[in-house]
Amino acid sequence: MLGLMQSQPLLISGLIDHAERHHGDAEVVSRRVEGDIHRSTWAGVARRSRQVAHALDGLNLLFSDRVATLAWNGYRHLELYFGVSGSGRVLHTINPRLHADQIAWIANHAEDQVLCFDMTFLPLVQAVHGRCPMIRQYVALCDPDKLPGDSGIPNLISYEAWIGHQPTTYEWPSFDENSASSMCYTSGTTGNPKAALYSHRSTTLHAYAAALPDVMCLSARDSVLPVVPMFHVNAWGIPYSAALTGCKLVFPGPAMDGKSIYELIEAEQVSYAAGVPTVWQMLLGHMKPNHLRFSTLRRTVIGGSACPPAMIAAFNDDYGVEVLHAWGMTEMSPLGTLCTLKNRHLALPEDEKMKIRLKQGRAIYGVDMKIVGEDGQELPWDGKSYGDLSVKGPWIIREYFKGEGGNPLVDGWFPTGDVATIDADGYMQITDRSKDVIKSGGEWISSIDIENIAVSHPAVAMAACVGMRHPKWDERPVVVVVKKPGAQLSREELLQFYQGKTAKWQIPDDVVFVEAIPMGATGKMLKTRLREQLKEYKLPE
Ligand code: AMP
Repeated sequence: MLGLMQSQPLLISGLIDHAERHHGDAEVVSRRVEGDIHRSTWAGVARRSRQVAHALDGLNLLFSDRVATLAWNGYRHLELYFGVSGSGRVLHTINPRLHADQIAWIANHAEDQVLCFDMTFLPLVQAVHGRCPMIRQYVALCDPDKLPGDSGIPNLISYEAWIGHQPTTYEWPSFDENSASSMCYTSGTTGNPKAALYSHRSTTLHAYAAALPDVMCLSARDSVLPVVPMFHVNAWGIPYSAALTGCKLVFPGPAMDGKSIYELIEAEQVSYAAGVPTVWQMLLGHMKPNHLRFSTLRRTVIGGSACPPAMIAAFNDDYGVEVLHAWGMTEMSPLGTLCTLKNRHLALPEDEKMKIRLKQGRAIYGVDMKIVGEDGQELPWDGKSYGDLSVKGPWIIREYFKGEGGNPLVDGWFPTGDVATIDADGYMQITDRSKDVIKSGGEWISSIDIENIAVSHPAVAMAACVGMRHPKWDERPVVVVVKKPGAQLSREELLQFYQGKTAKWQIPDDVVFVEAIPMGATGKMLKTRLREQLKEYKLPE
């Protein structure tokens, strides 16, 4: 017997309709490429997303055709989120930090037909348009008077001219909720990038789950600053959850430096911010020497790479901001776990609470996870056994776009490529990417642990730990360090600093000081490139 409830498809158009009707006056504030601050509302975004839908119809774009963006976080990008997906097309957010060759490859692979871009990326578009024969309309996200006359880009129109004369009413189509809504290519450190293809259903379910109190806890009373880019897994789904809950959205545009972010937080009374550790490092690096305080910021979600304990402590102890450590990946829409304390943890001493906050957290309802050993057997949740982390759930991919790479699942589970422990309370902690784990004398050393200790030293700005071939131990850890500007630190001092903070055999064999650590397009350290740079390196005798 079937239940007798209505079967309304879960569609992204429903989110923007809801936002307009129930909190149309909540603000959407954006720092623009032009440098000024633009103010809109959810009602304004809804209206203009319908104009986007008309503009796409005008190009005779079919259901599921791809519309690409090369854009910062801002209101026009948000309008495209809803206008493109709502009208049944697929929004393809391209990471502008990729190399032009990769962008051309990705746009062709996705078969993008329209490319909307912020003017910052004009040179990038000039470099790739000749190689992307399928793109038939270029849209610069600006006013008509900002459009350069001699760009050399064919079929180029300004966004405002493109949508400005379109009607503001539109009947969103209804279709199968499993239809594709947006896509995002993974960083692809090896081989060609592969795309996760999200659906209306997966996106909407993720939006519900992400908003929950023990997940991101978003509400109509929050002013939310997603610093995490809208080209990186849909800014962790915040645009959708924000439409659902009615929070004010504040977009940083291209200005991600500490000063700009701080000023925006204060000016827009941001209560909640989300980003990767490198961004927060810049913010804290600006605030400390200038003796600045937050007047409204209360919580921040940090994920994308492991959040160092020193950062959690700085936010918590120095600024009274609660850090929510989160873990996920492109293939997971992206949220998998988030770290919030349970009731009985509240009475624990601060250092015990800190040990929990450092973990990547508990699985969100909708995400099932397990760790498996080398023999494929599931490992116990004892907080000590570590193995390959696998996940399943309705917002996790079952295969990549166009079936690239074959079937990624093992018995229905998606292997994440992360190595983790899970404790008896269900708190998961990442120890490494499986390819970054250091194997020394048959034992594993967590590169994240070694890096966390290094960055807790006051002279260290950034640290990466890599395994180096060793004739006896197989591999030994070496820590590669970028010093803070003007700071003094010797190899011996840093190695001494490790004493008592980790097991003796896990202390790195050497310290290599560098000017910079190579970073990938999503703000993660590129250890593959770092290892290449250290090709000639020899461990000390
Ligand atoms: P991406 O698909 O580019 O978002 O990368 C996903 C990968 O980033 C994960 O598989 C992890 O290796 C890493 N990652 C994300 N969040 C965290 C976190 N909180 N701690 C450690 N690693 C993380």
